[in-house]
Amino acid sequence: MTNTNTDFKAISKFKPGTTTYKCGDCGKMTRDTGMGEGSLDLCVRCYDEATNENEHNDYGHDDLMVGCPRCYPTD
Ligand SMILES: [Zn+2]
Ligand SMILES: [Zn+2]
Repeated sequence: MTNTNTDFKAISKFKPGTTTYKCGDCGKMTRDTGMGEGSLDLCVRCYDEATNENEHNDYGHDDLMVGCPRCYPTD
C-alpha cells in the first residue's frame, strides 16, 4: 500500500469545469459557482454587480439598490 490513493483523492477535488480562473473585472481568482458568471469570466460578485448595473440601465430600480455600482459607486 502506497500513498497513491491519497494523492489521487487530492487531485480529484479539482474536477474539470470547476477550475479557478481570474475575474475579468476585479482580477481576483475565482471559481464558477454555476450562476452563469463563469461564461463571462467574472466572479460571482462582479457578475452580480453587472446584473444590477444592467437592471439600473435598462429599467432602473424602485429604490437605491445595495450592490448596484451605479447607485453606490465604489472605487
Ligand atoms: Zn470580480
Ligand atoms: Zn442602480
